[in-house]
Amino acid sequence: MMNLPDAHTHPAPAIPGAGPRFICGTCPADWEQAALLAEGDENVTPFFGIHPWRLNPDTWQEEMRLLESFLRRFPRAGIGETGLDKCRRGIPGLPVQKEALKQHLELAVRLDRPATLHCCRAWGTLAGILAEFPALKAVLHGWTGALNPAAQLPSGNWLLSVGLREMERPGILSSIPRQRLALESDEHPEALPELYRRAAQALSMKEEELAALVADNMEKVSAR
Ligand SMILES: [Zn+2]
Repeated sequence: MMNLPDAHTHPAPAIPGAGPRFICGTCPADWEQAALLAEGDENVTPFFGIHPWRLNPDTWQEEMRLLESFLRRFPRAGIGETGLDKCRRGIPGLPVQKEALKQHLELAVRLDRPATLHCCRAWGTLAGILAEFPALKAVLHGWTGALNPAAQLPSGNWLLSVGLREMERPGILSSIPRQRLALESDEHPEALPELYRRAAQALSMKEEELAALVADNMEKVSAR
């Protein structure tokens, strides 16, 4: 049975064959779930953050204090899922999202933790913010190929993570430098084996080789 690494997923029981996983909590209720899974499974690295869909303009600043206490409880934990979203209606606008994102990233740099970032139709804005945090280690989840990784995302510490949906775009995997490549199941942990099968085929790699590469890349951005 293979140990398939997952660079971005959410609280759920492990599927057979799952390896190291970055499990992201998106709001305080979710953080407790991620924490429980991490306590019971050494393959789990929990991430704690406020997702733009879960951002409450009245309470997020207070939630950031609770977030920091989760990070102190888990010395290897990361920060996220957080990010920018211009697709979804009925959530706070970009100014509040940017302010919350920056606070997450400042915390990540201050505590030397990786961040996992969501982005929908705001890649240029995200790249501009990331440029202010060159020392940050990050997973850019749901990578769509919107930017030129070499020119617009200069830090080698930022992994580009792809799932089955993103892979529908031809050539997406081969456009990512290998040392930055990550694979993710996001909301569909059961899709991990199929994801590795298809990605290995697209890259003409063995599944074992690909799993080792992704595990290595995840380790490079992990907190020490
Ligand atoms: Zn997600």
